Amino acid sequence: MPRAFITGITGQDGQHLAEFLHGKGYEVFGMVKGQNNPRMVQMRDEFPYVEPVPGDLADLPSLVKALEYTQPDEVYNLGAISFVALSFNQAELTANITGLGVLRMLEAIRMVGGAQNNSIRFYQASSSEMFGKVRETPQTERTPFHPRSPYGCAKVFGHDIVVNYRESYDMFACSGILFNHEGPRRGLEFVTRKVTNSVARIHLGLQQEIVLGNLDSKRDWGYAGDYVKAMWAMLQQDAPDDYVVATGTTYSIEDLVRLAFAEVGIEDWQNYVRQDPKFYRPAEVDLLIGDPTKAREKLGWEPEVQFPELVKMMVANDLALESKGR
Ligand code: GDP
Repeated sequence: MPRAFITGITGQDGQHLAEFLHGKGYEVFGMVKGQNNPRMVQMRDEFPYVEPVPGDLADLPSLVKALEYTQPDEVYNLGAISFVALSFNQAELTANITGLGVLRMLEAIRMVGGAQNNSIRFYQASSSEMFGKVRETPQTERTPFHPRSPYGCAKVFGHDIVVNYRESYDMFACSGILFNHEGPRRGLEFVTRKVTNSVARIHLGLQQEIVLGNLDSKRDWGYAGDYVKAMWAMLQQDAPDDYVVATGTTYSIEDLVRLAFAEVGIEDWQNYVRQDPKFYRPAEVDLLIGDPTKAREKLGWEPEVQFPELVKMMVANDLALESKGR
């Protein structure tokens, strides 16, 4: 039975990946930080096959211990402070966990001998936020980075250190440059889920309006369930490499809002949306659109769910959740 160790197991991608790897016959270990972690109960109930292992990306010895205990074939580093808006308020914490956490995990792998003979294969969750103020459109693996937030800067460090360790120590270390990926498990702080959940609540009479920031920015949004398959596929190749994972299409926040309201039969969405500067960011990523050609050609990966279908899925999920009182 192959063994996988996942950081960020309680997040959206950790859950999808755990489900996918379990389906492939993996033994799945998930790193859980802190005492009395509130998400543990949900993990135990929904993912009984995941064995929780204590550890923290801020604590190198804990990572070494976790690797010694789990003896993984594959490590997926999905753990991060992942919310861009929060990263402006907690920039140092973001640099420490989202950036230096990658270095600590790579060092931990070397310390347990995982770099030798590629006995541990490593996946790093890189991000389209690294492209930031984009230098070219669409963005590929060769597009220069220009991050626009402490989160983006930390992800650039994580990405570069993976490339450096691959080149320096011959490690099997890959980065997936994943564009935004969403779904019913997305946290309510992200704009897709905030919108679909609010639309459901407005439809059910539980809420009057949605308060948003910038409606003009554009994102290449895919479905998280599709994207974790690309993570796994990267680690099954003969050689480690970096890949853009995206749909190749882009929609604005306004498109998202319009599509979500249309799902509950509301066309005059403007009457339900208010904008507030507090949701604007000090620096914005205006446009993201990825070119997934390499992932398609080398990994055989293709997104199955397109954006309108994704919005439909998320609104339906939020309607079901909110109508039974969560
Ligand atoms: P990101 O691409 O990782 O920053 O994902 P988010 O879902 O947090 O934000 C996507 C885009 O939606 C950004 O351009 C935000 O500025 C924009 N946006 C507009 N209003 C909101 C809001 O109320 N919440 C969030 N999270 N984003 C918003």
